Amino acid sequence: MTGRYPDAVDVAVVGSGPAGAAWARTLHENAPQLRVAVFEVGPVLSDPPGDHVKNIADPRARRRAQRASEGPAAEADADQPPASADGRRGRPGTFLLGDGFAAGGTGLPVGAMSSNVGGMGAHWTCACPRPGGTERVDFVEDLDELLDEAERLLGVSAQALADAPLAGQVRRLLGAALDADRPAGRRVQPMPLAVRREVDGTGAGRLHWSGPSVVLGDVLDHGVGLHPETLVERVLRDDGGAVRGIAVRDRRDGTAAEVAARVVVVAADALRTPQLLFASGVRPRALGRYLNDQPQVLLAVRLPDEVLAGDPVDEHAGTAIDGSSGVSWVPFDDDRHPFHGQVMQMDASPVPRPDLPADRPGAYVGLGWFCAKDVREQDRVEFDESATDDYGMPAPRVHYGLTAVDAERLAAAKAAITAAARALGRPIDDAPIELPAGSSLHYQGTTRMGRTDDGTSVCDVNGEVWGVPGLFVAGNGLIPTETACNPTLTTVALAVGGARHVAKNLAHRTEGGDGS
Ligand code: FAD
Repeated sequence: MTGRYPDAVDVAVVGSGPAGAAWARTLHENAPQLRVAVFEVGPVLSDPPGDHVKNIADPRARRRAQRASEGPAAEADADQPPASADGRRGRPGTFLLGDGFAAGGTGLPVGAMSSNVGGMGAHWTCACPRPGGTERVDFVEDLDELLDEAERLLGVSAQALADAPLAGQVRRLLGAALDADRPAGRRVQPMPLAVRREVDGTGAGRLHWSGPSVVLGDVLDHGVGLHPETLVERVLRDDGGAVRGIAVRDRRDGTAAEVAARVVVVAADALRTPQLLFASGVRPRALGRYLNDQPQVLLAVRLPDEVLAGDPVDEHAGTAIDGSSGVSWVPFDDDRHPFHGQVMQMDASPVPRPDLPADRPGAYVGLGWFCAKDVREQDRVEFDESATDDYGMPAPRVHYGLTAVDAERLAAAKAAITAAARALGRPIDDAPIELPAGSSLHYQGTTRMGRTDDGTSVCDVNGEVWGVPGLFVAGNGLIPTETACNPTLTTVALAVGGARHVAKNLAHRTEGGDGS
């Protein structure tokens, strides 16, 4: 041991979000003899570590957990996340990119991260739609089986909120307008969510939102190490370029240490995974490039009185609407509807409307349509050798903009969301609202996987970085396709694939006497 760290492990996982958690769980399930440890720059928020903050019942304790996730500038007792000098503010549990957010183009004004055990996965909305058509990574041969396993690890169910107040009416109306000619499985349906309904003694349902604690299962009780408040500063390599370990800094007392590892998995989000590779001198051409933030439009409607009248309140006794729960899903469809539609019902109008009556839960419906970005090499996060971020790592500089193709897709998305909203009722706003870049929180592409090492990808289909034996990457950054749907299910699926590959190889080498 070096202080609180082991001297050596078989696999060091950097980052404890859904991607890092899926690696740790899969490694342990497939090769329990391997020594696996997870290193995380942020603090533990919950018991068990990595639980979703929505499961913290006390609002003050939940707020404290959110502030503790918002990086070095957050104030523990503040009501809100920290604001930037120009007034930009992240969502609770996240903090924004620093002044490099727009080094070129429009940048990502609300590009955000979370630093805590569980990462953004302790704060997410838990929507887990499957990718369809061109969203899918077509060279991952066993993608469907990996997605099945990802659903198991995340505890995904389409039923947990399917009977939420008025949800059936919403799906009926949307389906009538949008389902014609859609293949089975890609019609309007309840959103698959990483949520489970726990029924208590009174029969009332309490929702448990899946954070990375669910993905981890019980592996922390069976030898997998977790090292919170630990910044991984560099991946260490031997003279031949192969991985030999990591250099870490204990955030509690500032001491530095090295941990030897046969394999290092960097699952440090789509902005900081390339940062750590850059800091380690691993700089393939595609690193940080092909940055993809899904452009997004919103529109809210109120369901008409006749629809409310057809769905008596008491049919839903014991169910509840949650302000940020995805309830219904309009799947991406290349030919008919190249957008991902997420339909969230609310207790109250998102826009204060004193002219409208106070309503019953679910009467207001927020529609969010995500577009696939026109992915380009020049949209990128690069890193500054001469400046550092609040953790002392190379400062990110974002070059990002929308293209003429993106403008067309956004115009089409606005038309599509307006049509969907009108199928439901009366839109509250005159026109769809276009959100600033970075709002999706689904950044992808910055460590993309590829079939071959042709300069347009960073890693192979298992996540192993081209030309750096033993170095793997994980997270949304791996996704190379122009997706519109939420990425975490795919990310966990790809992590499972990589971890199975490593478990097999390392276990085999260990059995063969290679104890390196
Ligand atoms: P993260 O969860 O971001 O975890 C990365 C971890 O790495 C962090 O904990 C970070 O502190 C750590 N780290 C970074 N650098 C270092 C370092 N150098 N050393 C040590 N540790 C480091 N996705 C969906 O699919 N569906 C949704 O409905 C959805 N809703 C969302 C709603 C919100 C409000 C937010 C914030 C996100 C949402 N997302 C959603 C996105 C989802 O949370 C992410 O896709 C997912 O968390 C990515 O997992 P990850 O493990 O790759 O990264």
